[in-house]
Amino acid sequence: MNAAIRSNIDRVREHIRQAATQSGRDFEDITLIGASKTVDQATLREAIAAGMQVFGENRVQEADTKWPELRDDYPDVELHLIGPLQTNKVGSAVKTFDVIQSLDRPKLAAALRRCRDRGETLPRLLVQVNIGREPQKAGIMPDDLDEFVTACREHYELDIDGLMCIPPSQEAPEAYFTALEKMRRKLDLKHCSMGMSGDYAAAVRSGATMVRVGSAIFGEREYAHRSDG
Ligand SMILES: *Cc1c(COP(=O)(O)O)cnc(C)c1O
Repeated sequence: MNAAIRSNIDRVREHIRQAATQSGRDFEDITLIGASKTVDQATLREAIAAGMQVFGENRVQEADTKWPELRDDYPDVELHLIGPLQTNKVGSAVKTFDVIQSLDRPKLAAALRRCRDRGETLPRLLVQVNIGREPQKAGIMPDDLDEFVTACREHYELDIDGLMCIPPSQEAPEAYFTALEKMRRKLDLKHCSMGMSGDYAAAVRSGATMVRVGSAIFGEREYAHRSDG
């Protein structure tokens, strides 16, 4: 048993609680998502035993190898896709995940609609926004967001639950968090998924309803590739 996991989770929760209190928000309105890419099953079991209920994976294939057994053992656990989704993986993604946070282009919306038309129950959907307008990063550009969300709703007949962003890594994130929260309000959506290990408290103070925390819970990991490429 790795006692560090439990104390890490407790510490992150406490910081979320403090940030919520500071900003007059309800702790219960914020979902802590364990960003569990590269984390093995044994460690995931420890995290679940320590009370974690919601996890985010970056890759469909990795989730499909790690999670089926865990899902059987812990039916209340919720799984989010927080990494990029290829169109040819949509069929398995809709079966594996409860939430897809990386809806970022019309082709994906069209593929999701086709799944639904075939009778699949779709996961809840968040639109990923390229909040820093970074050329190499995934996400809908802020200027195109209204149009894309309208197309999702009216043309593809998809319910959109919220927005997700990964701000530029070398800059202070607050202005980006505030901008995403403003977009959420304007579009009358429920969720803002923003904030990672380095900045989740700031994200909560800016209105995050979901924070995606990896290394602060599971420790530093070496990633084979970048998650936001
Ligand atoms: C890895 C990852 C996180 C968590 O990052 P940490 O800095 O380890 O907390 C959050 N969101 C996404 C999309 C990720 O890929």
